[in-house]
Amino acid sequence: MEFLRPQALEEALSLLAEHPAYTILAGGTDVVVRRREGRLAPEGYLDVTLVPELREIWNGESIFVGAAVTCRELEESPILAAVCPLLAAAASTVGSPQIRSRATLGGNVANASPAADLIPALTAADAQVVIQGRQGTRRAALPDLIQGPGRCALEPGELILGVVLEPFRETARWSFDKIGRRNALAIARMNGAVVLEEEGGQMRNVRLCVGAAARRPVRFRGAEALLEGQNPDKDLFRRAGEAVSQAILEETGMRESSRYKLPVAVEFTARLLENAARRGQA
Ligand SMILES: Cc1cc2nc3c(=O)[nH]c(=O)nc-3n(C[C@H](O)[C@H](O)[C@H](O)COP(=O)(O)OP(=O)(O)OC[C@H]3O[C@@H](n4cnc5c(N)ncnc54)[C@H](O)[C@@H]3O)c2cc1C
Repeated sequence: MEFLRPQALEEALSLLAEHPAYTILAGGTDVVVRRREGRLAPEGYLDVTLVPELREIWNGESIFVGAAVTCRELEESPILAAVCPLLAAAASTVGSPQIRSRATLGGNVANASPAADLIPALTAADAQVVIQGRQGTRRAALPDLIQGPGRCALEPGELILGVVLEPFRETARWSFDKIGRRNALAIARMNGAVVLEEEGGQMRNVRLCVGAAARRPVRFRGAEALLEGQNPDKDLFRRAGEAVSQAILEETGMRESSRYKLPVAVEFTARLLENAARRGQA
């Protein structure tokens, strides 16, 4: 089996155009598992981890985070610590230290698992995924790109270059949380992120995403609207949680897991919001 390791973006794109059926490989923490389980039988691999553009994090007008940046690098990035600590916090909950040393942002997005930990954080941060094909570059928001479990709408020959997002302002309040069946090395039973601005004690521009709750990443617009322009308040946070729970039910219908997830979503959302509000207190 052919294993290609391009060292430049142009080379990666032309190899991908030449071999559209090859599997793109980054850290391999999803690909190798799927291959071992017989769910993937690639004709060849295109390893993108040596492409310099995909390895960078930079802060210009917006922040760019390359697709091949690992979770460990996200956790340790001084740039993200200063301007998007939410993404670093989400990355720190992925797998184990060994997994975080290999698992990449692009792999987390393209794998499109409903339980992926970076996806709610990126969605709440309003990140745009930058995708490059032979024809040029396009950008997509995560709720548009991810269409269902394992279904990332990339065209043949397209590669995720990275994500762009706006730096958090000083007034930004945020939180990330995750519930698993155990405390370490746990796949999320529920995860989520919130980002909001605090202006004169009121919440503005609220962006709330709860993951492992629907088939694809969703912003909970009803709950966001309830919170917009209001003062942080425990009862309000609970009502926002109830709105999230109701929206999950509408999105998924009643399922086996609903008896667990619907009540948990209420408390989980309220806790996310309380933690974000607490982060704003001196
Ligand atoms: C033991 C274990 C624990 C885990 N725990 C967690 C966890 O707690 N939270 C969590 O979110 N995930 C977890 N995962 C899943 C996995 O580690 C993540 O999804 C990881 O981010 C995938 O990144 P990767 O670089 O390893 O992807 P890979 O396995 O290399 O690739 C995954 C998919 O993305 C595609 N791809 C990769 N890079 C690109 C690109 N630049 N452009 C287009 N397509 C691309 C590949 O073709 C493949 O389809 C765990 C996995 C294991 C094995």
